[in-house]
Amino acid sequence: LLRAVGVRKRFGSAEVLRGIDLSVRKGQVVCLLGPSGAGKSTFLRCVNHLEPIDGGQVWVDGEPIGFRERHGKLYELREREVAKQRRDIGMVFQRFNLFAHRSVLQNVVEGPVRVRGIEPDQARETAMALLDRVGLADRAGDYPAQLSGGQQQRVAIARALAMRPKLMLFDEPTSALDPELVGEVLEVMRGLAEDGMTMLVVTHEMAFAKEAADEVVFMADGAVVETGPPARVLGDPREQRTRQFLARVL
Ligand code: ATP
Ligand code: MG
Repeated sequence: LLRAVGVRKRFGSAEVLRGIDLSVRKGQVVCLLGPSGAGKSTFLRCVNHLEPIDGGQVWVDGEPIGFRERHGKLYELREREVAKQRRDIGMVFQRFNLFAHRSVLQNVVEGPVRVRGIEPDQARETAMALLDRVGLADRAGDYPAQLSGGQQQRVAIARALAMRPKLMLFDEPTSALDPELVGEVLEVMRGLAEDGMTMLVVTHEMAFAKEAADEVVFMADGAVVETGPPARVLGDPREQRTRQFLARVL
């Protein structure tokens, strides 16, 4: 469902991504690991074209992101059209960035109504079902500031799901949370994985990667160092660079 080939990105003279190949099949969960500065966040931003890429190509569900394919050639899309492609890609960040002046329910309803043109009544019904799924139906009328970080992050997940994405990208969704709140967010993500959502997850939660991932990709210095099933990559890494990293985080 997601296929990235040879993705390159530079900021000035710094080569941050040096040709990343990475695929996520439909219904799969892939965890992206690596030290700080490896380029993990940059890669996620390249997937949905929040950052234009300097080389390579990203396809989501057969569509080249940021481009239109015609007669075998790629033509660059305008921002408006890229925004349309982006609707199919849900993103959850480290910081939950909910709309502070809107209730929990309004946060979840907003996107589908304004961007997808869903009827408000129907959007509310769907939103309530999603809030129920993340365990927060009883907090629908609250404002973000009244919720804990873990609860806010679960609302952020419900909000992303409300857009019916084909693919969900997570960038360290639990790393800004107090330790006791991490579990509830990972639990929601596990549920999503079990329901067959296609997910690419940047995380430092090795236990999550071990149980929930179909595949783990270890990245360092803008390149993929090693890819494989979690038990193999985490339990018996082939590369020295991976071993060093795991020795520090495990
Ligand atoms: P972390 O685990 O700390 O989140 P990361 O793997 O997500 O790290 P990135 O945030 O992708 O790493 O950053 C990769 C490199 O790109 C870093 O050296 C960073 O300083 C640089 N970088 C990221 N965004 C920009 C930007 N907008 N302008 C210039 N340099 C940037
Ligand atoms: Mg990052």
